[in-house]
Amino acid sequence: MEHRAEARIDTGAIAANISLIKAVCETRLMAVVKADAYGHGLIQIGLIAEKSGADWLGVALLEEGIALRTHGVRIPILAWLLPPGSDFKAAHTHDIDVSVSSIAAFHEISELKVNARIHIELDTGMTRGGFLDEWGEFLLQDFSHVEVIGVFSHFARADEPGERQNTNQLNRFNSMVEDLAAIGIMPAIKHISNSAATMKNHNAALDLVRVGIAMYGLSPDVNTLGDSKSLGLKPAMQLRAKLHLVKKVSAGSFVGYGGTAKTEIDTTLGIVAMGYADGIPRISQGAGVFIDGKRAPIIGRVSMDQFVVDLGPDSTCSTGDWVVIFGDGSQGEYTADDWGQASSTINYEMVTRIGPRVPRIYAPHVY
Ligand SMILES: *Cc1c(COP(=O)(O)O)cnc(C)c1O
Repeated sequence: MEHRAEARIDTGAIAANISLIKAVCETRLMAVVKADAYGHGLIQIGLIAEKSGADWLGVALLEEGIALRTHGVRIPILAWLLPPGSDFKAAHTHDIDVSVSSIAAFHEISELKVNARIHIELDTGMTRGGFLDEWGEFLLQDFSHVEVIGVFSHFARADEPGERQNTNQLNRFNSMVEDLAAIGIMPAIKHISNSAATMKNHNAALDLVRVGIAMYGLSPDVNTLGDSKSLGLKPAMQLRAKLHLVKKVSAGSFVGYGGTAKTEIDTTLGIVAMGYADGIPRISQGAGVFIDGKRAPIIGRVSMDQFVVDLGPDSTCSTGDWVVIFGDGSQGEYTADDWGQASSTINYEMVTRIGPRVPRIYAPHVY
């Protein structure tokens, strides 16, 4: 049986991207596999990353970390989105390091008295997670029941390497690390870089870089940093689906809900077996699919399970043919970057939003 749609993951591309990133960063590499590995599959990518030389894995949720451990991941894992009330005991049992960014969470961890491994998260200017207003009080806490492994922060504008905020954040980071040193806490692992900083800001590599999007072969920001190709990265995900129907229609046919589009001439339409339930954005102005060496643009609105493309009057496509929705662009197909642009979002969201109904297929070769 064949699927009606697939996200094909080139495991060789993941491995190649890891090698490239390791060569660039010259420090330890944490492969970030949160959110089902940005839609690529948590367990498979976690295991491939470990095998391909990643030193750490990073996840948002504790459940994600536990799933990785349950499937045999041995390298250190850090989970960074654990509000008070999280199962910190389970984190310890599964040997998962946890991020701490509030005194409330710190107390819960400390009270376990198990010497839990923690990474202290600092707000150095992004104004999201991390210690800010509680910092002075945090420094007065009793650290004797935890093991402080790391201290970290996150850049807000690493994809704009010339921005002053990057320097400001790094300076603030160093000064907060000194605050810790002053109370005798010297974490072995300081980390602040995401993909963009890893590629463009070598001063910020420190003891570990946390890399997500670049490992999947996508550029953190096509406009400011260039596309995958210019960064030497290989996009790992190719999304494809079948035309569940190909039909001839006459000029003047209204297409889809709301009749928002009309065929200008007699043409051939292809009905693609994927929709917004699968992560195809409902409004995608200027995206489409690739088939027979050509791009075929979307016509009309995307429905829940399907959308329509204009194959053109001379199309030789048939019902049941595969179309590529996005890929690495090497044949002329649309990329996740193109789809992001067409849908007022970013490549990160395009790959991450691909829904659970879409099987992920893994293969070590380039599609
Ligand atoms: C998601 C995330 C990363 C990875 O960011 P990329 O831009 O995908 O490299 C790194 N650190 C933290 C804290 C994150 O939440």
